Amino acid sequence: MTEQTTRKTEQTCPCGSGKPYSLCCQPLHQGVEFAQTAEQLMRSRYSAFVLQLQGYLLQTWAPETRPQDVAFDPAMSWQKLTILEKKKGRVRDQKGWVTFCAEYQAGLQRFKFVEKSRFRKDAQGRWLYVDGEFI
Ligand SMILES: [Zn+2]
Repeated sequence: MTEQTTRKTEQTCPCGSGKPYSLCCQPLHQGVEFAQTAEQLMRSRYSAFVLQLQGYLLQTWAPETRPQDVAFDPAMSWQKLTILEKKKGRVRDQKGWVTFCAEYQAGLQRFKFVEKSRFRKDAQGRWLYVDGEFI
């Protein structure tokens, strides 16, 4: 890998938006901005899994379903996020659903799963992840 491609990989947001990390999920991870839509929160949580940002994942998890901590499996390498379907979850909505496909590599094998995630807004109007079901 040349140095240029290394730098480019570092700068592109892991959520797959094609935008630089600094203009995409980073401001959300740093608490400078908040997700406007359920999809944006979904993307930023996927990037947080890639970057192993436990604090952000817990912060954006609804208290009723939030685990004590988030375990990152070092053998899992996240490869790709694809948003398949959205229901509500827009700026003015209070609830939303996002169906996505996530692909990861473990050892020499590549896996993927499809999940329909449920989101709601908290009292301050910030999006939270509630739970998800595998499809
Ligand atoms: Zn992003």
